[in-house]
Amino acid sequence: MPDTTLPSRPRILGIAIPSPLRRLFDYRPGSDCPEQGWQPGVRVRVSFGNRQVVGIVIECRNQSDVPDNKLKTIDACLDTHPLPADWLWLCQFTARYYQHALGDTLHHALPARLRQGQALETQTREYWRLTSQGHQTPSGEPARAPRQAALLEMLRQHPSGLVKQAIMAQSFTQPQLNALASKGLIAASQHPLTGSPEQADNGFLAEPTLPLNREQSSALATVHEQLDAFNPCLLHGVTGSGKTEIYLQLIEAIVSRGRQALVLIPEISLTPQTLSRFRRRFRLPVVALHSGLSDNERLDAWESAASGRARIVIGTRSAIFTPLKRPGVIIVDEEHDSSFKQQDGLRYHARDLAVVRAQHAEIPLVMGSATPSLESLQRALSGHYRHLRLTQRATRHAPAKLELVDIRGRVRHGGLTPPVQKQIAATIAAGHQVLVFINRRGFSPTLSCHTCGWIADCEHCDARMTLHRQPPLLVCHHCDHRRPQPATCPNCGSGDVRPQGTGTERSEETLAELFPDTPVHRIDRDSTRRRDSLEQILNEVRRGEPCLLVGTQMLAKGHHLPHVTLVVVLNADAGLYASDFRALEHSAQLLEQVAGRAGRAELPGRVLVQTLHADDPNLRLLANEGYNALAEQLLEERRSAALPPFRFLALLRVESPREDQASELAEAAAGALRQQLQHRELPVDCLGPVPAPMERRQGRYHLQLLLSAAKRSQLHEASAWLVTWLEAEPRARRARWSLDIDPQTLS
Ligand code: ADP
Ligand code: ZN
Ligand code: ZN
Repeated sequence: MPDTTLPSRPRILGIAIPSPLRRLFDYRPGSDCPEQGWQPGVRVRVSFGNRQVVGIVIECRNQSDVPDNKLKTIDACLDTHPLPADWLWLCQFTARYYQHALGDTLHHALPARLRQGQALETQTREYWRLTSQGHQTPSGEPARAPRQAALLEMLRQHPSGLVKQAIMAQSFTQPQLNALASKGLIAASQHPLTGSPEQADNGFLAEPTLPLNREQSSALATVHEQLDAFNPCLLHGVTGSGKTEIYLQLIEAIVSRGRQALVLIPEISLTPQTLSRFRRRFRLPVVALHSGLSDNERLDAWESAASGRARIVIGTRSAIFTPLKRPGVIIVDEEHDSSFKQQDGLRYHARDLAVVRAQHAEIPLVMGSATPSLESLQRALSGHYRHLRLTQRATRHAPAKLELVDIRGRVRHGGLTPPVQKQIAATIAAGHQVLVFINRRGFSPTLSCHTCGWIADCEHCDARMTLHRQPPLLVCHHCDHRRPQPATCPNCGSGDVRPQGTGTERSEETLAELFPDTPVHRIDRDSTRRRDSLEQILNEVRRGEPCLLVGTQMLAKGHHLPHVTLVVVLNADAGLYASDFRALEHSAQLLEQVAGRAGRAELPGRVLVQTLHADDPNLRLLANEGYNALAEQLLEERRSAALPPFRFLALLRVESPREDQASELAEAAAGALRQQLQHRELPVDCLGPVPAPMERRQGRYHLQLLLSAAKRSQLHEASAWLVTWLEAEPRARRARWSLDIDPQTLS
């Protein structure tokens, strides 16, 4: 057993190095290294192959299997204090659980600046506060510079000063600070890091809390019962039932006990609107982690969370790796959202890591959703999580029911049937807004020749090209291959080449034709590429003038659209008969989320769902009784089919540009694994290898092997063995492979 806390200088350091190899590398401590107190988590610079890398000390030992003359000495020791222990623990857990190399996991979880070896903490921080002249300046001044006035106002709320990072986190800029300083209204000073002026928190509520309704109070009270223990709760409440208000009041309680809150939200929801809701409520440093941060801002956010200065940390998936000095609660909003699972490289699920992290830290965990994942729902139903139900909307109107519209044999114009067009017209005439949901961007998903039947396929994938009009191109949504739209059929030369089916662009075009006097806003990945363009469109929409919104799931989630009273789902059928076992769960969640956009404020809403399968029992159950009824039925089906959450899965994906090399490796892996399972008498099923649902993608052949077990420990043992086998297997160097623990899709 390695002793990780040797009191005197160890002979050998086991170091995690950013590399896909699943092992530590042994080095000798250098002469500049401290004699004592080596601890796991210290960063060192070492030479590795022919490069210099930053590694992290994991073990201190007296012996190595590497011969003495081969052992290298580390080049530099970068830290006097190790990286936070809770962070290191989480990374080690993650690497183990997801069968991923520790060095690569640590690298993933560390801000770029720290990966590059930058010093961890500067010893002083810059604080800004009002000068006496600043104190005498009336509120609202300087009137011609509203941001400067807002900055002055914020500093007025913090008489002891604010650290510069906290000021920047509220979107103020250095030029604004400079401008006020040059007028003599504010001044900077340097303070040592410990005992920072912000530590005493009083009166941090910047706006009053809402009085909770009965369901909300009882949910909050349940969380409050155990604030010092692992207390996992599923906050299962319809859209608009006031889950966010509960988060806010819970955070208030956590912060007033001097603790920190970590809030995870889906990628799509980290909007200025969401952030401002938290920042409006609390006069406290709220740190937001998102992809728009610079490396320096990210380092600042990390340090302020690690030091305890940041009280509230909000971020998407990767924010789960933020170290916290005094963790008090973890909140996962929209816990069912698939963006919490990383789909390449380190394939972790942030919600699942939130569970182990809260357990390790012995703090409450609140997972909120209107449409919980079957995993979480099952744990709530079986009593592993507290099941907190909110059945009423906090505002006046009950959530709208789904009304199925049978489109079989009906004429459709741009995908819309006449009765739906009529409803849209009536809604606009009443001065309200309409949302048309269609989960397909582009103009049309298929371009085909009506003379010979030719279809525009992707050369690199088993997939059709999507026709786009803006700009006019055929685009493959799987590999992003693009080519011009042919004027005539490349097969028979006929001019009768037509788009088939409807995407957002086509729907936008049709709606503009049908309703020429009403603005149409399209919201999808293409129309919102520019930064802030989504917020700009939504701000326009929130002004409340009648309009038509066409969009993909970007529109379906999270956004509060108070003037939308009619939601139209162009086609609900995509997930009904898909082969993936989670497809129906995910499309039911999406439909329910879309429906939740209707009638959120003063006005009741309607949701019209067009379908070719109006008799489908699952769709009818969803429409008539709602998500929960369908979810319970799906759980029964999963139980009898031995699928998650009643079984645990791991998926080995193998790919290569050469089909024979991919299948050779997949077959060999399957054979070796089956033999090993038998030898160990391990009850793990091994299915395949089979071609992936889209066998050829980006010019590569994809095969997969599915492992399934009744117990996590069994799956873990089999996966660990398989990964070791693959690492040693020469054929594995000719094909790419990855192992996905708890895969979200089998594609
Ligand atoms: P959810 O997160 O469940 O979708 P929100 O927290 O966004 O719901 O609440 C929906 C709306 O109801 C918001 O406008 C919110 O301000 C309001 N609201 C929430 N709780 C209450 C309450 N107890 N009293 C009055 N309004 C409330
Ligand atoms: Zn043709
Ligand atoms: Zn392609």
